[in-house]
Amino acid sequence: MTNLPAEFRPRVRFAPSPTGFLHVGSARTFIFNWLFARHNNGTMILRIDDTDVERNTDASLASIFEGLQWLNLNWDEQYKQSERLNLHRQMAEAILKKGLAYRDFTPAHAGDTERSGATWLFDPGMRDLSQAESDRRAAAGEPFALRFRVPRESDREIRFTDAVYGDQAKSTADIEDFALLRSDGMPTYHLASCADDADLRITHVIRGQDHLSNTFKHILIFDAAGAPLPQFAHLPLLVAPDGTKLSKRRHGPVVSVTTYRDAGFLPEAFINFLCLLGWSPKNDREQMTRQELVEAFSLEAINRSNTVVNFKEKESVERAPSPAAFDSQAVETPGAATPYPEETFDPKALWLNAEHIRALPIDALSARLLPVVRAAGYHVDPNKMQRITPLIRERIKLLRDVLTAADLFFVDELPPYDPAELIPQKGDATLALKVLNRARDLLAHTEFTHHALDSTLRAAAQELAIKPGQMFQPVRVAVCGRKNAPPLFETLEVLGRERTLARIEKAILKLQ
Ligand code: GLU
Repeated sequence: MTNLPAEFRPRVRFAPSPTGFLHVGSARTFIFNWLFARHNNGTMILRIDDTDVERNTDASLASIFEGLQWLNLNWDEQYKQSERLNLHRQMAEAILKKGLAYRDFTPAHAGDTERSGATWLFDPGMRDLSQAESDRRAAAGEPFALRFRVPRESDREIRFTDAVYGDQAKSTADIEDFALLRSDGMPTYHLASCADDADLRITHVIRGQDHLSNTFKHILIFDAAGAPLPQFAHLPLLVAPDGTKLSKRRHGPVVSVTTYRDAGFLPEAFINFLCLLGWSPKNDREQMTRQELVEAFSLEAINRSNTVVNFKEKESVERAPSPAAFDSQAVETPGAATPYPEETFDPKALWLNAEHIRALPIDALSARLLPVVRAAGYHVDPNKMQRITPLIRERIKLLRDVLTAADLFFVDELPPYDPAELIPQKGDATLALKVLNRARDLLAHTEFTHHALDSTLRAAAQELAIKPGQMFQPVRVAVCGRKNAPPLFETLEVLGRERTLARIEKAILKLQ
């Protein structure tokens, strides 16, 4: 990490608009800003871009904080644009004073912002209104929007070098006289964003590629206000497997951060996954801790091409709740049963999650699994969970998988299973019965330790002149209800004598 003198340390911001739930793309933008700040000993700022009053919702604001809290990401300073309107208006005023903006009294434009495809000159009459006339009409209380006077004298190019996308240029002929203030006096995104970036001394604007083209307007504003330009770095677009831009409307819950939380992702694994969306660390490693990510991060290693988030689109579209059904408060419990099948998630995200799960110490993993188990209605004490955890941690990809991998420890009664499963390879029901009867008799007295259980059942196999596997399988199915289960002796140890014997007894009845 670099240790720059304070005046050279970067100041970056994440500036979400509270108009929807926290999108994976926004979370990635936060994380890249955060990594850049932490790598360079800089300052991370959270700025809520809430000047679009009609579209802001409290639920959205809550969802942003909820997502960031889950990811356990911190920031050093926090602002709300709606509390800084004076600052925005001052900048507009200063630009107007310099003659670089003009009042547009055209009622048709009142309240609207730029329309794409419209020509730059909304109303030449307004741009050319004399200063005296403009002042007179404003003083008379006539409403107006304030527009930037984009230079038209000669065909000028606005240029900048993006840290990711390289040299950019656009002719001023292609930039309309965009609004700075709307006729209701509210600043537009362009004005508010630049005024705040300048005031907060933002050194690096790291944001989604969809803002690349806005940057030309922003450069005009910074220049007009006499503010130094930050370095711009735009992040590649996140797209669905079919190449369309990842959007909540089209792709549903897979784009919402809380979906990953509720399905049982570990925040550190999810962050790791987001980092690999558009950033290729030089060390070519994939699984990394937060600290390793901070150490490895650089803007130079961000790619330009669109990044595909892989998921089964059809599934998630079908299951997408309607926007009205969205309620950020609805699912509080991590890992609680969710309707999202595994294919909802990028295989790399699942793989990383499994890796991060295995990297956790047993007690830490156990502490993460316990709330998931309890939320499903099982009463399991922390000690028991600590004993179960090592038996299943190799077998789960999502925290919620604990419910299927370890259910046999949580229930009194096993769910129904096919008695044919109890029959060992190259054996029949008679052999299965023989095995289970012998196991029941022996396990009534054997010490329930791994070693004693192992040698007792092996000796029984020898005594019955069968292979150890033929001995173990009926016992495994009897106590677990299936063949695919955690290691047998450890499982018996955790289950204990009483439950083991009761389940074997039940299996015997099933076979008779
Ligand atoms: N509020 C804008 C957004 O959510 C911020 C863009 C920017 O970072 O300038 O897209």
